[in-house]
Amino acid sequence: MDLLSHSPPTPLQELHNELCEKAAVRLFVKRDDLIHPEVSGNKWRKLKYVLKEVKQLEIDRVLTFGGAYSNHLYALASACSELDIKAIGIVRGERPVEESATLQFCRQKGMELHFVTREEYKLRQSEEYQSSLSQQFDYPYLIPEGGTSVLALPGVSELTTEVKNQLGIVPDYYCVAAGTGGTAAGILCTGANVVAFSALKGGGFLKDEIDGLIQDYQNPGILDLQTSYHFGGYAKWNAGLLDFIDDFKNRFDIQLEQVYTGKMLYGVFDLIKKGYFSRNAIIVAVHTGGLQGLVRK
Ligand SMILES: *Cc1c(COP(=O)(O)O)cnc(C)c1O
Repeated sequence: MDLLSHSPPTPLQELHNELCEKAAVRLFVKRDDLIHPEVSGNKWRKLKYVLKEVKQLEIDRVLTFGGAYSNHLYALASACSELDIKAIGIVRGERPVEESATLQFCRQKGMELHFVTREEYKLRQSEEYQSSLSQQFDYPYLIPEGGTSVLALPGVSELTTEVKNQLGIVPDYYCVAAGTGGTAAGILCTGANVVAFSALKGGGFLKDEIDGLIQDYQNPGILDLQTSYHFGGYAKWNAGLLDFIDDFKNRFDIQLEQVYTGKMLYGVFDLIKKGYFSRNAIIVAVHTGGLQGLVRK
């Protein structure tokens, strides 16, 4: 259970630069990319209490869903091999001739992979489909896509406790990349304000998803969902984004990737430029990890 109990706070790193000085804001990066070499960032936060529950219930297997490049599958495969839990991954799309590095890693960690058509994958939230999977795979504990459920929120919330201790106050804004919205929800439910950057095109639906996740919490923070920093859609990017990521690495010695955190920080800098944040604002951008999926130019 070491993986789930050992959790020193991740560093909070201030980004000193001219743009922030001019705009009179302070920008910090919460380095959740440093949480664990494989169970990275928000996936570790989201899985922590889910996997604790699996252990407590003494269920020996879990089943989840993801694409061929899923950081969630990657993190879960690693965590489960460390915790001695059998992991089954339902993968979107026909089995390719050559599997992605992510899927190869999952297999090495002992995850059993099942490829389903995109049509079938769309059923992943249907109860009927889930119960047929349950039977087929001998009653595993089901973890939704991205590890996102209300059970993911307490783990994510812990990052805000760390930040409060590190800064002495609650920041004015958290900035975070959003795929399913679970990470944004976990921060909002503590009462902190969140600017969420959709990594997907047409990310407007995330508002309802996030509202649904936090509906049982009193006094959540304010959500601003930014939907125009997707760079063409999920897992799409351009040379401008890769240049930004390179430049960011050179200036701040922090590696980002092109699916989530690169887009989010590009958006943060753009919003600072546009005067979006109030003067003297304290901004914490969460580095949610995911560096296994980094592409290089
Ligand atoms: C999965 C992931 C996200 C998206 O998190 P959600 O909780 O699904 O919104 C953001 N950043 C990285 C690096 C991720 O791997």
